[in-house]
Amino acid sequence: MICNICPRKCNIDIDKYKGLCGKLGGKIRIAKIMRHEWEEPIISGKRGCGAIFFSHCNLKCCYCQNYQISHLGGGRDFSCNELAEIFKKLEQSDVENINLVTPTHYSNEILTALKIYKPNLPIVWNTSGYDDSETLKKLSDYVDIFLFDFKYFDSEKSKLYSKASDYFSVCLEAIKTARRLIPEDKIENGVMKKGIIIRHLVLPNMYNDSIKIFDEIFNQFGNQIFISVMSQFVPFYKACDYLELNTKLKPLEYKKVVSHIKKMGFKNGFLQDIDSASCKYTPNFNDDNFYEI
Ligand code: SF4
Ligand code: SF4
Repeated sequence: MICNICPRKCNIDIDKYKGLCGKLGGKIRIAKIMRHEWEEPIISGKRGCGAIFFSHCNLKCCYCQNYQISHLGGGRDFSCNELAEIFKKLEQSDVENINLVTPTHYSNEILTALKIYKPNLPIVWNTSGYDDSETLKKLSDYVDIFLFDFKYFDSEKSKLYSKASDYFSVCLEAIKTARRLIPEDKIENGVMKKGIIIRHLVLPNMYNDSIKIFDEIFNQFGNQIFISVMSQFVPFYKACDYLELNTKLKPLEYKKVVSHIKKMGFKNGFLQDIDSASCKYTPNFNDDNFYEI
C-alpha cells in the first residue's frame, strides 16, 4: 500500500519499504497499553486514561523521551480487528477515555479499527501535531479530543531537531482544522468529553520560541483555549549531540515563559512544576510490562 497519510508524504509502498516513520506493512505496532494517570487533570480525571502507546513516530525528535519505541520501534504487532478488541477491553476497564498516543502514522488503521468498534468513551488523539489536515477531517466522526503537542515556532529548530522545516505551519493548520471540527470544549465533572488542548514542552535555551508559540496560539484561538505548559524536558537519546539541548531546562527560562503567559490572560490552562523534569514520567517499555491496566 502506498502511504501518504502524514505530511512526510513518503509515497512508498509500505508493504515493501519502511516509511520515514519506521512502520512496515499493514500491521499496527504497539509498545504498551496502560492506565495513564499523568496527563492533564481534565484528561486523566480520577480513573486515568486507557493509553495505547503506538510504536514508531512520523516526527522523530532527536530528544524523544520515548525513543525506545518512537525511534527504535519496540513493540508487538496487531491487526485492525485486534486493535478494535483492545478498544473493547479498555472500555471495560473503568477508564475516563481511550488515549491514542502518537497515532498519526497509523491514522488509516486506527480509523478502520474505530469503524469496526467505536467504544462508548471519548477517543483522544494525542499527537505531535505533525498531522495532515485532510486525514484529521476523516477522523472527525470518531475522535473526540485532540491533544496537540505544539513543539516549535522556528523552522530552523524543527528542521534541526525533527527534520521537519514545515512543522510550524503544518501543526498550526492541524489545530485550526481540529477547532473547526470541534468548535467548543465540553467538560463534565472536571473531565473533558470533547475538545482541544494545546500542550507545549519548553526546551532548554529556547524560551523565546515558546513565547512565540503562545503568542500565536493566543492570536489564533483567543484566551479560552486550553493550554498546557510542560517543563519536564530531560535530555534523552540524541539530545547529547546538541550542546544547547544536552541540559535541563533552567528555572529562570521556564519562569519567563510562564510569566509571559500569565500576562497574556489565558483563562484555561495547566502549568507543570519546574521540578517535573524526571524520568518518572517515562513509561516502562519493557515487554514484560506490556499490559498495565
Ligand atoms: S505515515 Fe509513515 S510512511 Fe506514511 S507518509 Fe507518514 S512517515 Fe511516510
Ligand atoms: S517527542 Fe513525540 S513527536 Fe517527537 S519523536 Fe517522540 S513521540 Fe515522536
